[in-house]
Amino acid sequence: MEFKTTQERVDEIKLLMQYAAPEEHRKVGIELIEKHGADRVALNLFHAFYSYLPDARDDVIKILRELERQKGVFLISATTLYEDYLFIVTQEKAEFIGALSKGIWDEEVLNFFGFANRESFLKKFRDISNVAVYTPVAIDRSLCPACSVADGEHHVFGCPVEICPWCEGQFTSCNCRFTQLNKNRLDRESHLKDLQAKAEEKGRIPFDAEKHMPAFPSDGSTALD
Ligand SMILES: [Zn+2]
Ligand SMILES: [Zn+2]
Repeated sequence: MEFKTTQERVDEIKLLMQYAAPEEHRKVGIELIEKHGADRVALNLFHAFYSYLPDARDDVIKILRELERQKGVFLISATTLYEDYLFIVTQEKAEFIGALSKGIWDEEVLNFFGFANRESFLKKFRDISNVAVYTPVAIDRSLCPACSVADGEHHVFGCPVEICPWCEGQFTSCNCRFTQLNKNRLDRESHLKDLQAKAEEKGRIPFDAEKHMPAFPSDGSTALD
């Protein structure tokens, strides 16, 4: 796995964009990337788009809209010079789906976001001009800053913000995972599955935006404690 600082990643995306965007539209592209400079979800989308232009023609993303969000997985529409493109994006990766006008064919994806079928998706998003513009995750305080789940949802398993249901410490760093599974180390996916099952049995602690949010600079509003 490759680790980069956010700035390195932003610079890399900007470089990719230089080759992808028609010159007169580069400014718009750069501004959008910079607006999302601290947001891994958007950066993953930009990276996917600019390293593999969907229709193999020069293009630039002008607007991002959040169509759906579920358990830290975003369905985002990227409006470019020519098309609205669909992406499924998490803090880890972005996956290109296709043109918005073609909808989603994958039933699993449709069900995950609560659509009965492709037609109902197309009906809801025939016109997206009124759909809210995507807000950078880093400034949306109602989302877990690490895995992007919403207030009241369970974290993506392995999220460093999740509270341990046994000791109420940080679940990814306390020792409960070893004691609960009676193992010295967890090195297989099956171990993690077992741990997740045990935690669910015990009662996982969902994300609470007010209580669990790592300290943010105060915006002057009064906290309700
Ligand atoms: Zn989380
Ligand atoms: Zn613990």
